Amino acid sequence: MSKKISIVVSVYNEELGLRQFYDHTSQILKDASANTGWDYELIFVNDGSKDGSLDILREFAAADDKVVVVNFAANRGHEAAMIAGIDQSTGDGVVCMDADLQHPPEAIPDIIDKFNQGYDVISMVRTARADAGIIKKITSAAFYHVMNKMSKANFENNSSDFFGISRRVALVLKNDYRERVRFLRGYVQNVGFKKTTLEFEARARVAGESNYNIRALVKLALNSICNFSDAPLKMGIYAGVLSLLAAFILVVYSIVMYFIQPDMPQGYTTLVIVLCFMFGVLFMILGFISEYLAIIFAEVKNRPIYIVDSIITKDGEELK
Ligand code: UDP
Ligand code: MG
Repeated sequence: MSKKISIVVSVYNEELGLRQFYDHTSQILKDASANTGWDYELIFVNDGSKDGSLDILREFAAADDKVVVVNFAANRGHEAAMIAGIDQSTGDGVVCMDADLQHPPEAIPDIIDKFNQGYDVISMVRTARADAGIIKKITSAAFYHVMNKMSKANFENNSSDFFGISRRVALVLKNDYRERVRFLRGYVQNVGFKKTTLEFEARARVAGESNYNIRALVKLALNSICNFSDAPLKMGIYAGVLSLLAAFILVVYSIVMYFIQPDMPQGYTTLVIVLCFMFGVLFMILGFISEYLAIIFAEVKNRPIYIVDSIITKDGEELK
């Protein structure tokens, strides 16, 4: 039986470029199918578009049995759209990409190639961004730097929501990564398995405007930091230790001053010491509460503790 690739495309108000995306991508998929023998399905997730995107998608589906449209009742964001497409997919490989042709479909045959070589995760790394200004580039680099410092997980710099995953990675995402606060590309890069990267050049949008404004980007950055790191929660303990240290230094300082400068204002020494000490204790307690909170947070998230790749017995190796 021939293999199949599922292309997952999230669509939010993309009516201007959608036809071009569909024509272009279908052509590439047909050619790839002829050359590699991989069948395909094209899954569009309509994320509550307010323009004519849905009608256009209906047209595609009516005329083309390769097209599946997952239509959301309301806009739930790009992250939700991607996982919905992955849940729906039936292919041996799944590729997520944007509908605005910023992720070149020309890369799909190379991704299929990597699947054939046995890779489970193919991260597409941006080498250039046609539409990104210097500020977006700097903030994006800073974000990945901070993420990698704060979390045990690894994040590919310049990674994108353009990636290929094998069926079993798709199943792990479908069954085990069901968090409400999500960062899909973070999961994809940290599930393990056999992983490789391909480079691509991000083009300018074919049409329409970016849906990610500064606010959405800040929210995504904060979500992903809190989702992959509990460092902010633990700041309380460090603040507490610092305050107590300051209290100790001030105790020594105040006692010395008490003797060499007896005309200091009355009560000053006591005040400073009590203040520093109390704040120190307060921050420590806050830090410990946060520590417990972090543990509860991790539990409530209910992520898998480990993921089985294969089970090897005398009878052979059984892939999971
Ligand atoms: N998108 C979505 N839901 C949203 C916002 C965006 O499904 O709420 C889709 C959008 O249609 C596109 C992809 O996510 O296919 C990336 O969005 P966009 O191009 O606006 O972001 P950028 O490429 O500028 O980061
Ligand atoms: Mg885009």
